[in-house]
Amino acid sequence: LRSFFVGGNWKMNGDKESLERLMCTLNTASLDDRTEVVCGAPSIYLDLVRSGLDLRIGVAAQNCYKEAKGAFTGEISPAMIKDCGADWVILGHSERRHVFGESDELIGQKVAHALASGLAVIACVGEKLEEREAGTTEEVVYAQTKVVAENVTDWGKVVLAYEPVWAIGTGKTASPEQAQEVHEKLRAWLRANVSDDVADSVRIIYGGSVTATNCRELASQGDVDGFLVGGASLKPEFVDIINARA
Ligand code: 13P
Repeated sequence: LRSFFVGGNWKMNGDKESLERLMCTLNTASLDDRTEVVCGAPSIYLDLVRSGLDLRIGVAAQNCYKEAKGAFTGEISPAMIKDCGADWVILGHSERRHVFGESDELIGQKVAHALASGLAVIACVGEKLEEREAGTTEEVVYAQTKVVAENVTDWGKVVLAYEPVWAIGTGKTASPEQAQEVHEKLRAWLRANVSDDVADSVRIIYGGSVTATNCRELASQGDVDGFLVGGASLKPEFVDIINARA
């Protein structure tokens, strides 16, 4: 029903030489053809990556602005991303939220504009450690998901990524049970607030210290439909993560 989805988020890493090497590894690897794979490249390399990566792998930008064009120094538009041949954008990543101070309101506007421009969106939600410890995980991820949902026109073009902030880049992966619990709740939220059809069809992927070692057990959880991978997506082990359900 829901095909497995593995995104790589390269973040602000790599150069032309190392990305060419990584693309060569991915292009020549045996990838489970039931898995949809998308790589999130730094925007300055979108063109290079789209022309270098095999077409069975999609390309995403890691951010975009909420407007089509104009006096917004340093920003990139969904139209520019599409012009480079990329079809996806990651929005609401925890680093955008917490390092760059993006609000739910801005993320919602970006989601609306990206979808209206024809991009597909990987929308990220996730609680901070102090929020988990205070028992507010559900409240936090529901509120973030609500703002995304209010701006979604076509759920067929959205993947929801649950990325607990405490698990990102820390080596502290959520346990399979912790991931499943939140994914199940997010799906129930979609059922109650959007529709049965959307709840059944939207991929909810997990991100936060996913590795070749922990991916199989996470992938066996009923509501974990894939991953958003940071550090490990820059290494050959990304292939094993893509093939976690093979
Ligand atoms: P890590 O896999 O490096 O923890 O990063 C996860 C992430 O933020 C993916 O978007």
